[in-house]
Amino acid sequence: MNSVDNSITTVNVDVLVIGGGIAGLWTLARLHQAGYKSILLEAEALGAGQTRYAQGIIHGGTKYALTGKLTALSAAVASMPTRWRACHEGTGELDLTRAELLSDAHYLWSTRRLTSRLSGFFASKVMHSRSTEVKKSALPSLFQHKAFNGQLYQLDEPVFNTLSVIRAIAEPLKDYILPVKTDSLQHDNDSVVVTSQGGENYRFHYQSVLLMAGEGNENLLSRFDYNTPQMQRRPLKMVIVRGGLTDRVYAHCLGASVNPRITITSHFDADGNIVWYLGGQLAEDGVHKSNTDLICTAKKELAELIPWLDLKQSQWGVLEINRAEIKKAGSTRPDSFSIEQSDNIITAWPTKLALAPALADALIEQIQQQVKKTTAAFSVPNWESVTYADFPWNEADVWMKNV
Ligand SMILES: Cc1cc2nc3c(=O)[nH]c(=O)nc-3n(C[C@H](O)[C@H](O)[C@H](O)COP(=O)(O)OP(=O)(O)OC[C@H]3O[C@@H](n4cnc5c(N)ncnc54)[C@H](O)[C@@H]3O)c2cc1C
Repeated sequence: MNSVDNSITTVNVDVLVIGGGIAGLWTLARLHQAGYKSILLEAEALGAGQTRYAQGIIHGGTKYALTGKLTALSAAVASMPTRWRACHEGTGELDLTRAELLSDAHYLWSTRRLTSRLSGFFASKVMHSRSTEVKKSALPSLFQHKAFNGQLYQLDEPVFNTLSVIRAIAEPLKDYILPVKTDSLQHDNDSVVVTSQGGENYRFHYQSVLLMAGEGNENLLSRFDYNTPQMQRRPLKMVIVRGGLTDRVYAHCLGASVNPRITITSHFDADGNIVWYLGGQLAEDGVHKSNTDLICTAKKELAELIPWLDLKQSQWGVLEINRAEIKKAGSTRPDSFSIEQSDNIITAWPTKLALAPALADALIEQIQQQVKKTTAAFSVPNWESVTYADFPWNEADVWMKNV
């Protein structure tokens, strides 16, 4: 039963989820399906954290298996493309039929013939079902150029418009999402007190809280008086380019190392222009460069890799963003999602957008063991609506002048 005194509305929930990125929303949807009374708190706008910066690739593990053997991360993500596709086709656990599939596949591209090690790897049993070499006649249009003499492998990895996914999941649940003021959250025994973005105060009594706020988990943990689990930030500087682009590309370009030299995904800005979004080693190394130097490097890379592309009239920008994950020795990448529990507070990071379904499975299992579904009617106050984040390339000031 909810109650209101003069200044605060009390709401009883089974599970309180904090953070409206892909992980929190996917989990909220699964909790509702499973019959748990759950509310999600979002401090900014839905998708406002890493999710709006993600390239949207639903990895099946190939990128992580380039060492020639399946790593733990590649095994963890192997079934994710199938699960996301099923959701998009309307037969999966969530309804993503309204989400935008940007590309049905992602490609691996090498500028020269692959080394024998890599050719052997692609021919191996492990990779056989996940990748196919693309015949010259079937190459995406950008690679049809006579100057292209590399190889392309098609990977079973769909690419989604991440914010359309956020909207598809959140719309049916919007009554259960409260926009809150960032620093208003206080922990008070087994309740959380917050001020909504509209200035109303709410107290949530809960059985379990899920901290799923990405980089915000660090601050939230301290508000709950915990100093573990520790979080790591792995920064990236992603380059964006628009103007002069007519092809949409979704590909990792292989370089000398096992990390892709560059990963290109293609998106649209608010005016419908194609925006190329450049990740991979370029973005990892970019954090040690000034924005101007990084753009210079990106121009050289593209000129070397796709010399027939004319980018003289293009506009360039740099997006700085941290990946937030559980802390690993030497800041190495975690193998999969992570879940840590202290009392009835569970902290979770998906590590990859692709892994949100697997993270939700594990959380639901944990909640089923620990949280008793309450039978009282679940009435939610008529609070203000949450907003949706936009893509960073739609912010005018991220585009640099004179570069
Ligand atoms: C540049 C880049 C590219 C990437 N590309 C890919 C890719 O192609 N494929 C892939 O699988 N993964 C990719 N990733 C990783 C992926 O983006 C993340 O793993 C995933 O988006 C994390 O989701 P999340 O919900 O945990 O966190 P976030 O998306 O960061 O969401 C956290 C939410 O919590 C909210 N919040 C913060 N503090 C509070 C608070 N105190 N109270 C309430 N709410 C709060 C934030 O506003 C935000 O909405 C990429 C990451 C980056 C940075």
